[in-house]
Amino acid sequence: MKKQTKKPIIIAGPCAAENEEQILASLEDARKGGIDFLRISLWKPRTKPGFDGIGDKGIDLLVKVAKMGVNPSTEVILPQHAQAVIDAVLPATKDGKLLIWIGARNQNHYIQQEIARVAAAHDRVYLMVKNQPWHNYEHWEGIIEHVLAGGMPKERLLICHRGFIPNGVNPHGYRNVPDYDMTEKIRVKYGLPMIFDPSHTGGTVDNVFLIAQQAAEHPFDGLIVEVHPDPKNAMTDAKQQLTWEQFDTLAKPQGTSVLF
Ligand code: PEP
Ligand code: MN
Repeated sequence: MKKQTKKPIIIAGPCAAENEEQILASLEDARKGGIDFLRISLWKPRTKPGFDGIGDKGIDLLVKVAKMGVNPSTEVILPQHAQAVIDAVLPATKDGKLLIWIGARNQNHYIQQEIARVAAAHDRVYLMVKNQPWHNYEHWEGIIEHVLAGGMPKERLLICHRGFIPNGVNPHGYRNVPDYDMTEKIRVKYGLPMIFDPSHTGGTVDNVFLIAQQAAEHPFDGLIVEVHPDPKNAMTDAKQQLTWEQFDTLAKPQGTSVLF
């Protein structure tokens, strides 16, 4: 990630939490890989109805990971999800951190503010907001301003670029197309860490590598990458999830990230 002197922020792990074996299989890699947060997403809003995450049943997985010294992270859809995860995970460690994020499909500004209010109240909780699916600068600003209006302190707020739904030129067939100029404008305007998501932009393993290489030419502060112990049998986003071996060739995080 260009221009950054400290290690980039790295969030990696399965698209969706499926079961305990899958998370434990990711834990060792998360420990040795210098990952800041292990992705263990419990709620999965889908374009069409289907497996939409294991939900509250998976909160214990986050607790288990936190107790093993790894910081967990998950998408939350409602403020009550955020509260339930925080209530369970924070007491499990004295100084472990928790990351929750608001996904691209969650574009109710009232809900965004309420999630921010819940996250803001706990100083070990970080909040990440992804851009909306459609290509629009004002709306992206709006998401950030709504969570700030909900009281989220900037020191614990991250932005994530996951590209926009393709509309026109897309020679590589990316699932979502990045807009690096817009990303940089937002990053500079709000002075917040900007995380790049090569998984939901790329859409396939080959594209994840290609787009991560492109993105390295731009001043991102970190990456969120989908990595699964058995991608072929993943319940969601099987085409774009890397194995942990592939992840090791994509990112070699070491040292203290810009966040901590
Ligand atoms: C995700 O990160 O799991 C996800 C569904 O991505 P997005 O919200 O960017 O579509
Ligand atoms: Mn996914």
